[in-house]
Amino acid sequence: KQYTADDIRQIAKDEDVAFLRLMFTDINGVLKNVEVPIDQLDKVLANKATLDGSSIEGFVRIEESDMLLYPDLNTWLIFPWNAEHGKVARLICDIHMSDGSEFAGDPRNNLRRIVQQMHRAGFTAFNIGPEPEFFLFKLDDKGEPTLNLNDNGGYFDFEPVDLGENCRRDIVLELEKMGFEVEASHHEVAPGQHEIDFKYADAIEAADNIQTFKLVVRTVARKHGLHATFMAKPLEGINGSGMHINMSLFNEQGNAFYDPTTPNQLSQSAMYFLNGLMEHARALTAVNNPTVNSYKRLVPGFEAPVYVAWSGKNRSPLIRIPQARGAGTRLELRSVDPTANPYLAIAAILASGLAGIKEQKNPVPPVNRNIYTMSEKARRDNHIFDLPSTLHNALKALKEDDVVVDALGKHLYKSFLDSRELEWSAYRQTVSQWERDQYLKRF
Ligand code: GLU
Ligand code: MG
Ligand code: MG
Repeated sequence: KQYTADDIRQIAKDEDVAFLRLMFTDINGVLKNVEVPIDQLDKVLANKATLDGSSIEGFVRIEESDMLLYPDLNTWLIFPWNAEHGKVARLICDIHMSDGSEFAGDPRNNLRRIVQQMHRAGFTAFNIGPEPEFFLFKLDDKGEPTLNLNDNGGYFDFEPVDLGENCRRDIVLELEKMGFEVEASHHEVAPGQHEIDFKYADAIEAADNIQTFKLVVRTVARKHGLHATFMAKPLEGINGSGMHINMSLFNEQGNAFYDPTTPNQLSQSAMYFLNGLMEHARALTAVNNPTVNSYKRLVPGFEAPVYVAWSGKNRSPLIRIPQARGAGTRLELRSVDPTANPYLAIAAILASGLAGIKEQKNPVPPVNRNIYTMSEKARRDNHIFDLPSTLHNALKALKEDDVVVDALGKHLYKSFLDSRELEWSAYRQTVSQWERDQYLKRF
């Protein structure tokens, strides 16, 4: 999908596109858009569409609020759903300052900066295959989400128990119309929970795809009278929603994680990269699990990782190495949840792995037994440490990790930290029903 400005002018005319959505992502991973009528197309293509940056969380102050939207022409796409007033197309944009320079607080620009570091290190692509999970809840008469699940299905269940199946199938069809290659789509372990996996793409495109995916899922679910949520742990007592990230580095020769001559057929680069992920795992958690609620998913018993360990056999650790070799050789990071800003998460993951390659240290041995049944001492003897248990602890780890801090860059690091610390302090001031149930009568 390589488009020139003229291609876009032509397609817009042929397809009778009426509106353009100029999309970008704020610091908290929320997709934003500025909608303009099609007669603004020339202005948009000339990078002259403007944005009031002071209205976007984590962007800029009022005095420097005039910002420019530079569309990435290769992200041109016409939404498949019918709009009342004509077709709507989107372009994902980079944010620039009014003088034309790149805005450092734009997560997409920042990811490109880390991708350029990767190119300088001799790699051509960082392929990311995400496995986003989500819940479908029923809407009430007013269109507000309830906590009623729409089905009683379980993992890989067939109809008729799985009423969400229709909705999911519709989501898959819409995604395919938009050019997604859906590789797997199934009911997840928890009732009302689903997963749709789509084909890997290079870092920036993968992040764009994740954002588009979430928009499509929410839009289609609504048509089925359902609310789709990517919140990490909407219901206690059952699994939360993760977004496992499969990743591989490529160079001119192909998959740089693959080496047929080693015993496990993983290259030295793969092992160093893996070690980078392990060493920065605690700080990465702040970026990959950025909400208070994210940490309610990272507890024992719900298929989510709790400890920093890796394995080629076991499914439960933080990093798993799937069986595939050759071009499909990859690492799977299982801590990430879908509330993460994908541009920040992929930048931080890539920078950690590249730091590992630079450092040239081998990881501790894999752990192929059930970590959850090991004693604390056994875990210590096997160099297994804990992931942060709260957002607060994760932010502390982030502050001490230069590699992950640098991966965000000064501007984003500051606004991310400010925003997350504000959330933590607001959360600390709340008193939950659980606490009243425990203490009101006892004390
Ligand atoms: N839902 C699980 C999680 O919270 C993952 C289940 C799976 O292995 O796909 O990460
Ligand atoms: Mg899953
Ligand atoms: Mg997985």
